[in-house]
Amino acid sequence: MKTITTIADTQSLAESFRREGKRIGFVPTMGFLHEGHLSLMRRARDENDIVVVSIFVNPTQFGPKEDLDRYPRDAEGDRNKCESTGADILFTPGVKEMYPEKPEVFVTVEDVSDRLEGAIRPGHFRGVATVVAKLFHIVKPHRAYFGQKDFQQCAVIRRMVKGLNLDVDVAVLPTVREPDGLAMSSRNSYLNADERRAATVLFRALSTARTLFLEGTKTPEKLKKTAKRIIEEEPEMIVDYVEIVDRETLAQVTTPGREMTLLVAAKIGKTRLIDNIML
Ligand code: AMP
Repeated sequence: MKTITTIADTQSLAESFRREGKRIGFVPTMGFLHEGHLSLMRRARDENDIVVVSIFVNPTQFGPKEDLDRYPRDAEGDRNKCESTGADILFTPGVKEMYPEKPEVFVTVEDVSDRLEGAIRPGHFRGVATVVAKLFHIVKPHRAYFGQKDFQQCAVIRRMVKGLNLDVDVAVLPTVREPDGLAMSSRNSYLNADERRAATVLFRALSTARTLFLEGTKTPEKLKKTAKRIIEEEPEMIVDYVEIVDRETLAQVTTPGREMTLLVAAKIGKTRLIDNIML
C-alpha cells in the first residue's frame, strides 16, 4: 500500500490507472477506522482493481462549536487497518493541501441538505458535498462507497452526483453495529461507560418501531411517538429529532408510503449520535 499526501501525485496515479483500463474503487473517511469503514473497504476490494482510501478530517463540514479539534485520530492504527483490507492507496492530505486558501468555492445541494442534520448543523452538508466533489476529482473513482449509517449524507451525495452529472457510481452499504446494536462510529470513543450503555437505546427504539411497522402499525406519527418514548426512557438522552422521511427526498412523511426511513439523532453528555432504519 502506498501512502500519498499530495493531490498532484494522487491525480497522476489515478490517471495512469484509468489509462491501463483499471477500475478504481474509493472509500472516503475521516479516519479512526472501525468495522463500518472496513466493510466499505472490503466491498471496494471485491469489486475493483484499485482501492483508494482517503483519511481527511474535513474542517468545512464542522460548525464553529463542533468537535473538529477533538475529533479522534489514529494515523498508525488506520494505516495498518487499510493495509489489512488490501487497499492500494491511502490518501491523507493535510488541511493546507485540500484548502490552500480560505475556501471560496462550495457545492450546495439544496433542500435535502436543509432538513434534519442540516437544520441542526447549518453548513454541514455544504462542507460534505464540497469535500466529496473535490475528492472525486482527485481520486477519479469509478465507484465510491458510503455507509447507510449516514443516511442523509448518502442522499446528499447521490443528488450531487446526479445534479452535476459526475461520472461516479455511488454504492451505499448497510450499517455495521456492535453486538448490542449500537451503530459503529468514530464518535463512540467519546462515550464513558454509562453513556455507552445508555446509547444502545437508539437501536432498541428503531427496532421496536420497525417491528410495529411490520406488524401493521403504518402511521408515521404513531411509530415516531413510540421510538421517541423509548429513547426518553434513558434520562441522559436528549432527543434532537425522531423523523420518518421519504428515502429519496428526505421530506417528512405524514401518510404511510412505500419507501420510508426512520431517523433519530440524540445527545448524550457532549456526544451527538445518529442512527436510522429502513421501515
Ligand atoms: P466517517 O469517517 O465517519 O466520515 O465515515 C466514512 C464512511 O464510513 C461514511 O460513508 C460513513 O457512512 C461510513 N460509516 C461510518 N460508520 C459506519 C457504520 N457503522 N457502518 C457502515 N458504514 C459506516
